[in-house]
Amino acid sequence: MSATMLDGNAIATTIKAEVANQVSAFKTGGLVPGLAVVLVGEDPASQVYTRNKVRTCQALGIHSEHILLPVESSTEKLLAVVADLNGRDDIDGILIQLPLPKHIDSKQVLLAVDPDKDVDGFHPINVGRLSTIRPGLVPCTPAGVMEVLRRSAIPIEGQEVVVIGRSDIVGKPVAMLLTNANATVTICHSRTKDLPAVCRRADILIAAIGQVGMVTTEFVRPGATVIDVGINRVDDRATFDRLFASEPARWTEFEKKGNTLCGDVHPAVAQVAGALTPVPGGIGPLTIAMLMVNTLTAATRRRGQK
Ligand code: NAD
Repeated sequence: MSATMLDGNAIATTIKAEVANQVSAFKTGGLVPGLAVVLVGEDPASQVYTRNKVRTCQALGIHSEHILLPVESSTEKLLAVVADLNGRDDIDGILIQLPLPKHIDSKQVLLAVDPDKDVDGFHPINVGRLSTIRPGLVPCTPAGVMEVLRRSAIPIEGQEVVVIGRSDIVGKPVAMLLTNANATVTICHSRTKDLPAVCRRADILIAAIGQVGMVTTEFVRPGATVIDVGINRVDDRATFDRLFASEPARWTEFEKKGNTLCGDVHPAVAQVAGALTPVPGGIGPLTIAMLMVNTLTAATRRRGQK
């Protein structure tokens, strides 16, 4: 058996086209949705992420501002920037690129973002809204997981779902979204006993762990849907050989770049699962697409449009 690959790139492209259409309808009312992306310091990976967010905004007709602050900026400085963005009518979404430098009080900064502009969905008010099924802003990656399941016509209601990982960013919110969608949800973590046995109960298995290729075939009931949220860089030959011995196409990439991306799910799971999200090209592209959705949602709610 070979799993159906769920094409996250294609789904993200469709969602972004929908957002672009809605943005242009929004603009006929003379309004332009606006997103501010705040980056502190010059971490190369964060620079790539923030630049991609700004570029995607531009492509969809969303106004965006890239606010760069020096790495030595204080918590107070960042709080002042957030207060200014909270007060601006042309900014509907505020994204603070994480991780912030260690000397900054990240919790305090995230708490200062106006919950109605909190397009990352990390503010406790939005966490509360999600858990009590009230309109709010939902974290982008978990929202992307739901879009992949729904748009791939994978049943959710009444299904057994196992989520591995309990982070505030992925594990907990995705478990909450699935519970709200009437799935029966089990959350597993690093202290779960006999993890493979618990995972084999799943009709839908979601891996959000950050451990390369940890979910092997013994975790997966034949025919189950497996959603791989993990993004891990593999740059040593031994790990590469353990994971990708039977994928010659990967070797070409590994040889050229010196690394390749791998999820939390072992590639051999494709032989057991019914459907699987690849890495790259699975959940990753959805995160930025859902950020665009959240920005439009925030703009629509704030400015009282339907
Ligand atoms: P995290 O480190 O905050 O949380 C990891 C979770 O996995 C923890 O709850 C921990 O209990 C659990 N865990 C760790 N080791 C385990 C083990 N051996 N057995 C069972 N559970 C274990 O990570 P996160 O922020 O939730 O991210 C998880 C993964 O998802 C990472 O690879 C990250 O890069 C990726 N990610 C991808 C996107 C995306 O856009 N696709 C977005 C966010 C995170």
